[in-house]
Amino acid sequence: MRGSWLCVIVGFGLWTSALRAQETKSLPPDRLAEVLVIDAHIHTVDPEKPFATSMAIQGDRILAVGTRDELQPLVGPQTKLWSAGGRWITPGFIEGHGHFLGLGQSLQMLDLSSAKSWDDIIAQVQTAASQAEPGQWIVGRGWHQEKWTTPPTDHVDGYPRHQLLSEVSPQNPVLLTHASGHASFANDYAMKLAGVSAETPNPPGGELLKAVDPTTGEVQATGVFRETASALVQRVYDQAQQRMRPEAKREQWLDAVQRASRACLENGITTFQDAGSSIRTIDELQALSRQDQLPVRLWIMARDSNEQLERHLARVRIESQDSPFLAVRAIKCSIDGALGPHGAWLISPYEDLSSSVGLNTTTIASIEETARLAIRKNYQLCVHAIGDRANREVLDLYQRIFEETLEESSNGAADWRSKAKSLRWRIEHAQHLAPSDIPRFAELGVIPAMQGIHCPSDAVYVLQRLGYRRAAEGAYVWRSLIDSGAIIVNGTDAPVERISPLASFYASVARRMPGGPEFFPEQAMTRLEALQSYTLWAAQGAFEEDVKGSLTPGKYADFTIWSQDLLNCPVEQIPATTVLGTVVGGRIAFEAPGYKLDATDTETDKLERPPIQ
Ligand SMILES: [Zn+2]
Repeated sequence: MRGSWLCVIVGFGLWTSALRAQETKSLPPDRLAEVLVIDAHIHTVDPEKPFATSMAIQGDRILAVGTRDELQPLVGPQTKLWSAGGRWITPGFIEGHGHFLGLGQSLQMLDLSSAKSWDDIIAQVQTAASQAEPGQWIVGRGWHQEKWTTPPTDHVDGYPRHQLLSEVSPQNPVLLTHASGHASFANDYAMKLAGVSAETPNPPGGELLKAVDPTTGEVQATGVFRETASALVQRVYDQAQQRMRPEAKREQWLDAVQRASRACLENGITTFQDAGSSIRTIDELQALSRQDQLPVRLWIMARDSNEQLERHLARVRIESQDSPFLAVRAIKCSIDGALGPHGAWLISPYEDLSSSVGLNTTTIASIEETARLAIRKNYQLCVHAIGDRANREVLDLYQRIFEETLEESSNGAADWRSKAKSLRWRIEHAQHLAPSDIPRFAELGVIPAMQGIHCPSDAVYVLQRLGYRRAAEGAYVWRSLIDSGAIIVNGTDAPVERISPLASFYASVARRMPGGPEFFPEQAMTRLEALQSYTLWAAQGAFEEDVKGSLTPGKYADFTIWSQDLLNCPVEQIPATTVLGTVVGGRIAFEAPGYKLDATDTETDKLERPPIQ
């Protein structure tokens, strides 16, 4: 309704554009632009009007898009001017599947991924220790000894010993997780807290790396913990977290929200689709949203026990139309694991592990119960499925539920299908599909939410795990899905991958593996499709296309300003694109250093305004 009303206003505005200022002056102030964006290269993702150079904003909504001349009638005495400097503007990007608090928590740790040596890491820990209270844990992640340009002078199997690290952190336990997640490094303080010494035996499936100290001649723990041995120190850290004072816990939680929000805004993300938060977390975020404390719009999938869902779904349900910064109308659950650790559930055994078809992590019966809840409570269902068997089971289950529950109230098969489509149930990841299952997504109206970046990241082991034929026919088959009529919601699964949409956008159109070769490039998206997968399609995947996903009058004034045109720049330059600015609800939420959206005085002076009466 609101959209069509605004269209009328805009239509009126355009029609009068040839008229003089004194006639347009009669527009009431609430129909005039609060902000006029000029000198922009706007890709609206609205098929009705794909390009524009100017955009008028009123409150948190878009009032009109067009040329500057067309929008002149909307200029009032108070209109502010924003000059985009000829840059490329798109609708605010929507992260279609990430973990919001997980992202924030990952940003609370030291990021050791760009360290070039063990000395770099010691320096980072030293700085953190100088700012920490005695006894406070210092945690980090992402170190990788193979990536250091200078190996440690004194090392055991390529790993350093803990002594230098322990010297810079005598009053703080330190725990640093390896980039693979399969090892960790602890300082002396942390090992003492954990009661670990050279005498500690290796736990099953793990190893404490020990070595003879060259000065004392004694066997010592080096500080390196492999696989399950990491839990010896991790457990003590987890217990310390549990014991934190409620106020300190709260402060840490709020800090995670702020960090995740900042990361989104710096990367051009204006809405984040959170792939699974408990009812309790939803309540906490809801409270923040009510106090206007959320800088980024969240769309949250509820993830909890069926019992909790049954009890609370009706209460926590809220649509973005009624709550601009937080929507809850979907449920998340998982049917299998991931491909890397052979957890994806496959129809035929793994090529490189013939004894296994992967793991079914939640019973079909339990997911079916969740699905019935979703139907009853009018929620979308979003099931994580990676392997081809997992995807088939979910499609079968969805179809069964649709047939049973939608037919009762209708007149036959054709009808349940169209009703099913209106539910927009999703499959999260949908990474590996049997060819015969590909068209079923469009037939059932099931939306695959796939993360472009997973393709090049996983490509190295996809061929080993699946073999050539299965990889060619069914791995990350964006082209086949789109051609069969499905839409794709893109994303990064942050913090699994970095939150930047550029790597996923680039992967979606180039499918280039690190180091060069392309991974079945015939399955690439076009650049326009990749743009849609991050905007309009993502909004459709959340029932939010009436307020988000395109720069259309009546929708939220959420947009991103980019350093270059992602649709027309040379493809290899896509990853070098940067975000210059992010606007959420008509407010500048991020500007890159050196970029200013507010127009210069000269530009503002040139603005033809009706006189203040
Ligand atoms: Zn995920």
